[in-house]
Amino acid sequence: MQPIPLRTTVIGSYPFPGWLELAATQLDRLGVDDLAELQRDAVISAVHDQCAAGLDVITDGEQTRLDFNLSFYGYLDGIELESASPRKWGPPAHDQRGRHQITAPLQASGGLGAVEEFNRLKEVAPEGPTLKASVPGPYTLSGRLEPSEIYRDRFEVAEALVPIVQAELTRLVDAGCVELTVDEPSMSCYAHKLDPDQLVDLFNRTVAPVVGRCRLSTHLCFGNYKGRAVGPRQYAPMFPAFQQMQVDELHLEMASREFSELELISEIGKSKDVAIGVVDVKSYFIEPPELIAERIRQCLKYIAPERLALAPDCGLSQTARWAARQKLENMVVGTQKVREELS
Ligand SMILES: [Zn+2]
Repeated sequence: MQPIPLRTTVIGSYPFPGWLELAATQLDRLGVDDLAELQRDAVISAVHDQCAAGLDVITDGEQTRLDFNLSFYGYLDGIELESASPRKWGPPAHDQRGRHQITAPLQASGGLGAVEEFNRLKEVAPEGPTLKASVPGPYTLSGRLEPSEIYRDRFEVAEALVPIVQAELTRLVDAGCVELTVDEPSMSCYAHKLDPDQLVDLFNRTVAPVVGRCRLSTHLCFGNYKGRAVGPRQYAPMFPAFQQMQVDELHLEMASREFSELELISEIGKSKDVAIGVVDVKSYFIEPPELIAERIRQCLKYIAPERLALAPDCGLSQTARWAARQKLENMVVGTQKVREELS
């Protein structure tokens, strides 16, 4: 069970400051030390905003995953930089991202970079909040890798990534990480047309080496690329299979779905903590604290406060920073109201 009732937390990502986005277009003009300073300053900004809001759990905001070379794919051996995206214009969608070709068996001799991210976060974060690291799971990571004669389909690519992700999770725990999210948004987006038991089996084998060694969570997401969903926004196709995921906490997107299927949490809460999205990262309506408190009271009809955590619906990377900041602040104030009522 979580360390405190009604814990406030986040899903990994946070918006890049404008200056960071600008700098990311000119990374080739920076020396190694300039880049290290840039990355550290960016994490300081994200940590500052989360701490100012008063969150119980914070992340590095994924501020250093700036481009191909600094993202997980840049750490993989055996792939070639993405092919040109098939569609360049028009409203944003996934088909505007290219896919990477697999040219040799997949390896990551230097790890996936998440340990370096976690160590940087440890250096800049103040005492107090719990530090959370997040790593995408193998099924999600396989989504932008093109199957070939080496791995014939997406599941074979994902299987090849299992030991790579396992090694990264183990290194994170060895580095002192006590709170770890393994993100598999692709699993929740495509569970409706795949075998959910097969997905859960893949997930559980991936996290097996660290089960019991840290607090594990996952975020069941319907997609947020450029603020758009890609999956049918229903949890029904995932359950009861996803109940078997080997995690301490399951995070559900609720605010953008008007709390549909909320009753599910009473069943999930029998064996896990549940983090509920109480602010909508896709809307610029800033939920006032009283509305957030009301949403929490709604959740408490189905689950005990010891089992309930509060979060935004998804990572905040696609939400303007001014709005992200206000939403987090209000979330903490709204949670505090309910804590006072309960005490
Ligand atoms: Zn998400």
